[in-house]
Amino acid sequence: MSFRRIRILVLFGLLAMVALVHFGEQFLVRSWRAPLQVAIVPINGDDSEAVADYIRQLNEEKFAEINTFLEKQAGRYGLKLNNALDMKLAPEAHEIPPAPPYGGNGLQVAWWSLKLRIWAWRQEKTGFLPHPAKVRIFLIYHDVATDKALDHSLGLQKGLVGVVHVFASEAQRQQNNVVIAHELLHTLGATDKYDPATSLPIHPIGYAEPDKQPLHPQYEAEIMAGRTAKTAEYAEMPKSLDKCVIGPDTAHEINFSGAFTSQFLR
Ligand SMILES: [Zn+2]
Repeated sequence: MSFRRIRILVLFGLLAMVALVHFGEQFLVRSWRAPLQVAIVPINGDDSEAVADYIRQLNEEKFAEINTFLEKQAGRYGLKLNNALDMKLAPEAHEIPPAPPYGGNGLQVAWWSLKLRIWAWRQEKTGFLPHPAKVRIFLIYHDVATDKALDHSLGLQKGLVGVVHVFASEAQRQQNNVVIAHELLHTLGATDKYDPATSLPIHPIGYAEPDKQPLHPQYEAEIMAGRTAKTAEYAEMPKSLDKCVIGPDTAHEINFSGAFTSQFLR
């Protein structure tokens, strides 16, 4: 066999392995049979003392409402979850993850996504192999006093990695949890339900009450739309997860309905 053929075979084998791992992971994380393992990794986004102080006082309790939100929303689809999430606050990471290539082509995005997954894997200092089916959410904290606009947050289904930009402030904590929940659901396969051109929720899939008369104002947000449509032209960010729901399309994407069927049949 020529060297070229061997090289192609090895590459093909690697790709097949990555695809297999991805399908296995997605099957595991979306089965909702056991609490989904989530590692929260804080990062000081602007190397400030204020952010360092904020990170020091973090604990799992600060993120507990994400778990409550998922359990409550699963219940709306007949799925009974005891501890939807097993969230662990990991030690602070001291490196900023590779930035996404905005406006980059498909190849650049694929390369960056691979780099991000390798980066995320390297942050795991507990062993040589990454834990299977664990979502890692990197929380990049910024000082409210100096940073006015945050970079875009993202959640990658492939690799189960989320990079979330948040404010290091107790007043912002509940709204941070809305963003974290949104990106966490991306890693489980949920898609955005807002119009990228206007950032407005898409009707009906991005509305909490798509059949409400009159339609506006909406009082709650569909989590993957990320905003509550107050009028046809204006939407605002919900203050907390109490004001968010998981709509039927998102529920289907994250397999709440399939998990309910298997729970019922068990
Ligand atoms: Zn999104």
